[in-house]
Amino acid sequence: MVERVERRFDLRPRRLAGDTAYGAVRLLKWLVDRNIAPHLPVWDKSARADGTYSRADFVFDQERNIYVCPGGAKLTSTGNIDQGHIVYYRASKNDCSRCSLKPKCTTATARKLTRDLNEDVRDRVRALADTEAFEQSRRERKKVEMRFARMKRILRLDRFRLRGLSGIRDEVLLTATAQNLRRLAKLLCRAPPSQAASCSA
Ligand code: SF4
Repeated sequence: MVERVERRFDLRPRRLAGDTAYGAVRLLKWLVDRNIAPHLPVWDKSARADGTYSRADFVFDQERNIYVCPGGAKLTSTGNIDQGHIVYYRASKNDCSRCSLKPKCTTATARKLTRDLNEDVRDRVRALADTEAFEQSRRERKKVEMRFARMKRILRLDRFRLRGLSGIRDEVLLTATAQNLRRLAKLLCRAPPSQAASCSA
């Protein structure tokens, strides 16, 4: 869609907002490579719900290309890449077997972490989440999504009655027109406070 809009209208967004479904690392990278700020929650399934240490509890040292665990031990990588994008970091069996934190860390003989090749992109996008610009995008996204929700629930666009692309195009166009007329009527009817009573009567 971004490419199509650029081709047709010579427009490229400076930021893109969406929900977690759009937060996969491949899309984040695609956007960052095109200088489009991804105002998206990062899709990250590394968090653990059982109270044991998640990957976020380990500190990545970019310079040395290692993770440092909560016990201060190093997790190193062989540099091998699995499935084209996953790198494994492993603690040493010696460190883990002597560690008092092991019950909170792993049931295996040594802890292993995975890191995506583009994890630095994820980190950059996570950092955006605390900015005012991200918050502004979130508010604007909610406004837009509200319109779609109303189209579905109130104007009953939860299923199409016509078939085929042109039928669907007509149906969506008519629904959007009806919605805009509703909004227009509301705006026109917005009288100054003193006259509001007579307008709604
Ligand atoms: S079990 Fe291993 S990886 Fe986990 S905290 Fe202890 S030394 Fe670090």
